[in-house]
Amino acid sequence: DRVNLADEPSGSLPRFRESEWDDNIGYFIKKKLRVWCRLPKGQWELGQIQSTSGENATVLLLDGTVVKVSTGELLPANPDILEGVDDLIQLSYLNEPSVLHNLQYRYSHDMIYSKAGPVLIAINPFKDVQCYGSDFVTAYREKLFDNPHVYAIADNAYNEMMRDGVNQSIIISGESGAGKTETAKFAMQYLAALGGGSGGVENEILLTNYILEAFGNAKTSRNDNSSRFGKLIEIHFNAKGKICGAQIQTYRLNLKMASEYNYLNQSDCLAIDDVDDARKFQLLVDALDTVRICKEDQKQAFEMLAAVLWLGNISFQVIDNEYHVDVVADEAVTSAARLMGCSTQDLMLALSTHRIQAGKDSVAKKLTLQQATGTRDALAKFIYSNLFDWLVEEINKLLAMGKLRTGRSISILDIYGFESFKKNSFEQLCINYANERLQQHFNRHLFKLEQEEYELDGIDWTKVDFEDNQECLDLFEKKPIGLLSLLDEESNFPKATDLTFANKLKQHLNGNSCFKEERGGAFSVCHYAGEVLYDTNGFLEKNRDPLHSDIIKLLASCSFRLSQLFASNMLNRFQKQASSFQQMGVFDAPKQSVGTKFKGQLFKLMKQLESSTPHFIRCIKPNNKQLPGMYEEDLVLEQLRCCGVLEVVRISRSGYPTRVTHQEFARRYGFLLSEDNACQDPLSISVAVLQQFDVLPDMYQVGYTKLYFRTGQIAALEDTRKQV
Ligand code: ATP
Ligand code: MG
Repeated sequence: DRVNLADEPSGSLPRFRESEWDDNIGYFIKKKLRVWCRLPKGQWELGQIQSTSGENATVLLLDGTVVKVSTGELLPANPDILEGVDDLIQLSYLNEPSVLHNLQYRYSHDMIYSKAGPVLIAINPFKDVQCYGSDFVTAYREKLFDNPHVYAIADNAYNEMMRDGVNQSIIISGESGAGKTETAKFAMQYLAALGGGSGGVENEILLTNYILEAFGNAKTSRNDNSSRFGKLIEIHFNAKGKICGAQIQTYRLNLKMASEYNYLNQSDCLAIDDVDDARKFQLLVDALDTVRICKEDQKQAFEMLAAVLWLGNISFQVIDNEYHVDVVADEAVTSAARLMGCSTQDLMLALSTHRIQAGKDSVAKKLTLQQATGTRDALAKFIYSNLFDWLVEEINKLLAMGKLRTGRSISILDIYGFESFKKNSFEQLCINYANERLQQHFNRHLFKLEQEEYELDGIDWTKVDFEDNQECLDLFEKKPIGLLSLLDEESNFPKATDLTFANKLKQHLNGNSCFKEERGGAFSVCHYAGEVLYDTNGFLEKNRDPLHSDIIKLLASCSFRLSQLFASNMLNRFQKQASSFQQMGVFDAPKQSVGTKFKGQLFKLMKQLESSTPHFIRCIKPNNKQLPGMYEEDLVLEQLRCCGVLEVVRISRSGYPTRVTHQEFARRYGFLLSEDNACQDPLSISVAVLQQFDVLPDMYQVGYTKLYFRTGQIAALEDTRKQV
């Protein structure tokens, strides 16, 4: 029962959804409404339709130029009153150019925070924006400000925790350099200010950031201070709302280390402008003192660090035509051995041979160049990651005081966002898998919030559709034929190659609609954020744990405390695993693969998140140059898609995104009524307006306190209002 609105008597409202735009272009021409016009180079410009003929429209752009484009390149723009709104959901038209423009408008006015429904969007300013510090903390605390801010999110979490006695979580995601770690620190700063007591734990919590960043961050091409680990910090509060302890968990993929640390000199960048290494080092030592790591342990920690660097310089010489090698006896190997606390001979042997059990005896087998290099890198990674874990553990010991599971904690998660490059490997697969899980958590929460609001206000909930990403998660997790199980199966097969793995995937996973086979050992996965092409090259090797037991034994025999500690941690873990296998009657326990370990950690994390009320922050990087004031539309759009913001917008669009109380609605539009309505209540006035202007019943619902509108309805009412 569509009507051509151009021919309708004035005063009627357009009855179309965005998808029906084509049929109703006449309305926009007649009313000379603002439109988004896609120009040949792909950019969107604001303009006004002047005329149309057939499929083409003539549009006057803001700068005065007139262009001719196909009507398919036009989208409705929002009315002026909606320029730069706090929450994207308030927009009457939620198309991509409108969303992008609104964020850009705010960004250019230094309003780096916006909302998309319940989600906070933070666009990295790459400069100091004057919106932090104690005055702002007070202002948000006392509700003097109500515009979007990370402080407001932290404040919400704190209030909900105190009110309901339920644990809270703040989940911060985004791509590298988007500002996750900085945002997490602002959230911590706010909570520390709120929950600061006399004990001073809050300062210790803030100081731990120095230690974690000093050991866990590195300069990469995308971020000068890139976190190489995911982090969950859990802050505990007592009944009075004061901080009484904290706990840190780290998630490392443990994959990128070798290339980044083994050879600092390969990175061809040893100094960063504006970074004073000496001062930072002093801050680090102060922080280590504060968390009460004794001087002897600090000394050993730095020695282990130096050992890692020396390991990176160890070289090999080939001794036969099968590429077996010996370690070159130079300064590198003697220094590394001395720093680890073992003899040079033992280290040389462990790096160039592998002991194999043959009956009762064991024989030493020479390693090839590739194997030896792999062993060396694995040892360096092992020491480094154990050093990091040890530091985290020491910090936790200090922060754990008085910690009780009270239902009063706020966890802040700083985790890598969805990644999609031209070439994607095992690392991206793991990251994207984790994000797929987080997205499900997000969807379910959003769904619940919407449902609660609708049901509370007496709205018919059945008219809203939601999608879930369970199918994609099944692709990864299903046993025995999910991506991860198949990968483990192939990794345990000595003769398997990346290609046989790719074939296996094709053979078993084609039934899942999120899986697509590609040519040349590749495959694609349809993630919630888009399709990603994965190259299986290197998958098996990366999934196998490369550290063999000879190396652990070597470390165990070292004379230094930290070396021994690292080795015994590993042996304990291995024994636990082995004994649980033995209980199951399996004696030849396979070592846990990297993928399986990752999945285990992820499940633990999800369990923790699921028992808390989540708050979501999505960080956006506006340009790749780390420069202020530069907003690249395509880059932003891609991230809005990847972090699920467009999904929120889409979900809202499928429901009733515009919500107005009866009072507000009656006040704003009541005067449009032809009859006198002075003595009527707001609900009656609202209903009368809706009837007089003939708004179709499936375009709105009337709740107990609010009116709920489909996309676009308010813009049309505004337009009518202006003309009266
Ligand atoms: P990675 O995933 O690589 O760890 P990240 O998302 O944690 O990246 P950050 O290290 O938090 O990114 O931010 C990168 C840089 O951006 C910071 O070093 C800082 O210079 C700048 N930055 C981020 N957020 C802000 C902010 N709110 N105000 C000012 N500068 C910021
Ligand atoms: Mg970071």
